[in-house]
Amino acid sequence: LVSRKKKKENTIVDVKGEKIGDGSQYFVVGPCAVESYEQVAAVAEAAKKQGLKLLRGGAFKPRTSPYDFQGLGIEGLKILKRIADEFDMAVISEIVSPQDIDVALDYIDVIQIGARNMQNFELLKAAGSVRKPVLLKRGLSATLSEFMNAAEYIISRGNDQIILCERGIRTYERATRNTLDITAVPILKQETHLPVLVDVTHSTGRKDLLIPAAKAALAIGADGIMAEVHPDPEVALSDSAQQMNIEQFNQFISELRPLAKVN
Ligand code: PEP
Ligand code: MN
Repeated sequence: LVSRKKKKENTIVDVKGEKIGDGSQYFVVGPCAVESYEQVAAVAEAAKKQGLKLLRGGAFKPRTSPYDFQGLGIEGLKILKRIADEFDMAVISEIVSPQDIDVALDYIDVIQIGARNMQNFELLKAAGSVRKPVLLKRGLSATLSEFMNAAEYIISRGNDQIILCERGIRTYERATRNTLDITAVPILKQETHLPVLVDVTHSTGRKDLLIPAAKAALAIGADGIMAEVHPDPEVALSDSAQQMNIEQFNQFISELRPLAKVN
């Protein structure tokens, strides 16, 4: 059902009026993890000033180490909801277990399924059974065929509001945190009718590569860019090395906006 052969037209995912997949290129920004109201609000305010509407932030953080910050959980979703209401923005947040999907519906606008859960089939089925857009990230070592099959789990349950996200894959190269598979974008767009975003933060893991990677993503036809922004990255509880501060974010947007297609 995700195949372009089954449906010729692009699927447009409507997130509070932002029509992802309509030909415009969107920016999704926000902190790696929700840490406090003030922290998320600072980013939301900056994003809003730039005319952006899509805010990300993790409340349930699937961390590699069990001793790292695991996120604020439901408390974090409540902070996101308050900010979405105050700033008239849409929020995207990762959900890691099927039983949290129902409660998340009240707080967030897009359910993110993270790279580590791309083949959590019970989670995919649960996300497919609700009427809420899903942002599905490519698994760390997933082939594009496996990625499309994961999306198929969601759509086969009746939810076609799916946004795919290339976030880099694991290779032997250590210069970047992951290897951004830039050609995944046109391949996914040819083979499926779903919108495709590129996460420049987790793919590169390097602040100095965010702008060039985002330029490549826009040029190759991504439907949007995801990037992490934190008011004070030095003290961030996760992904401290690669989150942009507000000033860097403003620079990022001013360099990229002229290159982004507007429908
Ligand atoms: C995230 O976007 O917050 C995240 C954890 O990314 P990924 O699942 O791609 O590692
Ligand atoms: Mn992160």
